[in-house]
Amino acid sequence: MVSTREALAARARRAMPGGVNSPVRAFGAVGVPPIFAREAQGATLTTTDGRALIDYCQSFGPLILGHAHPEVVAAIQAAAARGTHYGVTTEAEIELAERIKAAIPSIERLRLVSSGTEACMTAIRVARGATGRNKILKFSGCYHGHADACLVKAGSGVAGIASASSAGVPAGCVGDTLVARYNHPEDVTELVQQHGHELAAILVEPVAANMGLVQPADGFLAFLREQADASGALLVFDGVICGFRFCYGEYQQICGVTPDITCLGKIIGGGLPVGAVGGRADVMEQLAPLGPVYQGGTLSGNPVAAAAGLATLHRLQADQPYAELERQTGRLVAALQDAARAAGVALQLPTLGSLVGVVFSDQPIRGFEDIERTRQDQFQILFQSLLQQGIYWPPSPFEVAFLSTAHTEAHIAQTIAAWQHALTRVAEQT
Ligand SMILES: *Cc1c(COP(=O)(O)O)cnc(C)c1O
Repeated sequence: MVSTREALAARARRAMPGGVNSPVRAFGAVGVPPIFAREAQGATLTTTDGRALIDYCQSFGPLILGHAHPEVVAAIQAAAARGTHYGVTTEAEIELAERIKAAIPSIERLRLVSSGTEACMTAIRVARGATGRNKILKFSGCYHGHADACLVKAGSGVAGIASASSAGVPAGCVGDTLVARYNHPEDVTELVQQHGHELAAILVEPVAANMGLVQPADGFLAFLREQADASGALLVFDGVICGFRFCYGEYQQICGVTPDITCLGKIIGGGLPVGAVGGRADVMEQLAPLGPVYQGGTLSGNPVAAAAGLATLHRLQADQPYAELERQTGRLVAALQDAARAAGVALQLPTLGSLVGVVFSDQPIRGFEDIERTRQDQFQILFQSLLQQGIYWPPSPFEVAFLSTAHTEAHIAQTIAAWQHALTRVAEQT
């Protein structure tokens, strides 16, 4: 008999390239067929073949309150019953914009869009429009969505000589994107010396969470602020993951470095498609209809998505769950670290707030180049064993795990036990 999972996989592949609408869902990095979700509640995701999994992916970040939080669901239902979109401005989107502004003081004006990709794409265009310059500087291993200008990676050899990280990205786009290594200020110094007068923006994930988890080294973000100021470029923080993840605001309020533009997404949409780009009023008012930089969206500021975002932010502000999330995550990570030691496996679990990366190596990790050298085979064994035991960890060593307020002590205890067994497997098989 063909399982539901196999039948769905075959159907999906006939209808969609690779059977998915976003590549990581194909489970290419973990050597097993993808799972299919039937429903989810809180920390638990139930697959179409009826397995209940403790979910550490949480839709790759948006669901800090867990799946189907009752207040978020109620807000969505009430908003949908009043009509799903109007093409004129609603009070809900004004309220979401006001809430974000109040939480992140560097955001004087913002525009709501439908994804993080759109937010970053718009940030780059605004920065170019505001400065009259074309080049941007980004960091290898930082992800800013899939706009052409962002699908660029460092070439081998000389810093800044870049190449497209996807087919279909024209050389003309690649030529305007400079790539430095994360946490390597010397790369930035060199590129700013050569190209500072042409630089529109320095774009960075303040905490890198798309190459596992890599925290900025002491002073790195402040150094980027100085380099942006010295060259006349704008500093753009891509806070699509970091926004409302570590505090009720963005990481800029923790590190004390203020960007000109902030990109948001994920949590501010409460699990519906939302992004936002905001910053200094004079910069943001370059956007149409006030200024010459065009940007628009049929479903931008969608009232159902705004309702989901508002309900999420309201709950986060009222409960301030950040210290508790950090405590819970710390307990999990300390136990996993002990389990790795007991199994004799070299493992680092970089952690910040409720984010956890998995690195099979005992070498220090400063950025993408170091992660690439780690043991992918060990990650596969870990992932497969966890899945067998009912734990859904993100299906790639480049993704981070996300704890939510719905993860309980019991979930954590079950996860620790599963990891202990999985790490024994890793030790036996590698
Ligand atoms: C997820 C992500 C994006 C892209 O957001 P989408 O909504 O997937 O388009 C951009 N930047 C960062 C840092 C992200 O984690």
